[in-house]
Amino acid sequence: MYNPKSLKAEEFIDHGEIVETLEYAEQNKHNRELIEEILEKAKPKKTGRGVECAGLSHRDASVLLACDIPELNEKMYSLAKEIKEAFYGNRIVMFAPLYLSNYCVNKCVYCPYHYQNKQIPRKKLTQDEVRAEVTALQDMGHKRLAIECGEDPVNNPIEYVLECINTIYSIKHKNGAIRRVNVNIAATTVENYKKLKEAGIGTYILFQETYHKESYEKLHPAGPKHNYAYHTEAMDRAMEGGIDDVGLGVLFGLEMYKYEFAGLLMHAEHLEAVHGVGPHTISVPRIKKAADIDPSVFDNGIDDDIFAKIIACIRIAVPYTGMIISTRESEACRDRVLDLGISQISGASRTSVGGYAGYSPEERPHDTEQFDVSDQRTLDEVVRWLMGKGFIPSFCTACYREGRTGDRFMALCKVGQIQNCCHPNALMTLQEYLSDYASPETRKIGEELIAKEILKVPDEKRRQRAIDYLEQIKVGGKRDFRF
Ligand code: SF4
Ligand code: SF4
Repeated sequence: MYNPKSLKAEEFIDHGEIVETLEYAEQNKHNRELIEEILEKAKPKKTGRGVECAGLSHRDASVLLACDIPELNEKMYSLAKEIKEAFYGNRIVMFAPLYLSNYCVNKCVYCPYHYQNKQIPRKKLTQDEVRAEVTALQDMGHKRLAIECGEDPVNNPIEYVLECINTIYSIKHKNGAIRRVNVNIAATTVENYKKLKEAGIGTYILFQETYHKESYEKLHPAGPKHNYAYHTEAMDRAMEGGIDDVGLGVLFGLEMYKYEFAGLLMHAEHLEAVHGVGPHTISVPRIKKAADIDPSVFDNGIDDDIFAKIIACIRIAVPYTGMIISTRESEACRDRVLDLGISQISGASRTSVGGYAGYSPEERPHDTEQFDVSDQRTLDEVVRWLMGKGFIPSFCTACYREGRTGDRFMALCKVGQIQNCCHPNALMTLQEYLSDYASPETRKIGEELIAKEILKVPDEKRRQRAIDYLEQIKVGGKRDFRF
């Protein structure tokens, strides 16, 4: 029986409820009146406390996803843009993945790290190698990492992950520092989540891969990940362990996208119902080619139009949740979805173990790669590209460091402080990047953008302070100001 408050996976991701939702969406996909009503409900509204959005239930959002009336789809895209603009403005947070180890005891059929793949060498970074990788990432300008690691209690026990996190935070190379380490490791125990929390992680990310239990079990035929309930209930254990920023995601292409979409939103509703806070982020990876993996054998692939619609509908349904797109996607695809709701992108990513240190921007080791990277530009190129499109690349990690976790973004929104807080923080961290790492051309474009954008901070005192801080970063060599 469907129950969002239940702690049992099969009750909060109830198959029957998803099937009924999809039927309801199909029946109403031409229902103009209902669709207009849903769009109206989801619009940002001005309240005494600032701008607020109600979001949508998985049922309503599924109707939007199914809608095939072209002009209403256009309205949907405009609404997604409006919501994005209201809460995220033109800021895009930057991050990079860091692969620690590709040892894995699971047999996920879509991932080249599955234990039966003999085509790829197995590698695990030593602490010296972690230092080298992090130094290389700092030298690019990154401040926020997502660490990735296969599941292997012998080769990658929790102690290894904790040691790596410790090493990462300890490295201060020139003006560099990694200020937020997000962690993407296998589902684990409450005890281990507590340890991750104590180590100071940012978001705990775990992709569900698919919410369809039967498919899930087939796609994960062996290893601890085969256990659907243990995997699906991981975020509840993470929250019980004190981690209040969790990141959801499915791997689009494994199952029917409409099914995954409803499941994803039901998972978000469940977290909200039980823990009072929804997911911090949602990632939208699509299956890609890799060693021993041919994406064409999965017959649920989605094209760029559907992909864009999914992103717009997620933006409308969960307006306060950050949305992440990786370098799996091409420049053209990333370009299209930035306006529709994406708030974080990776840049200059290497998806292999030890892919950063010792390689020039053009060199790219492929031997231990988890998937093909479509967008192969350098961070400087990505930053310049974003600014050329009017976006502000942000290296901000302020909330996490100020202890504004959990529903903090909501709190910022509710007191109408986004533009007084996120905006100057984004600009100050961008100025750090420009001063320390950018090419002269990128720096010039960036400093012109900052001069224009800083005037948009509404509070006069805050604006003046930010202008003063920017000067201290640029001329005085100071770093790490934040609101
Ligand atoms: S997806 Fe994760 S758990 Fe599965 S084989 Fe790859 S690294 Fe291992
Ligand atoms: S101030 Fe907080 S919510 Fe705003 S960009 Fe920085 S980390 Fe994100």
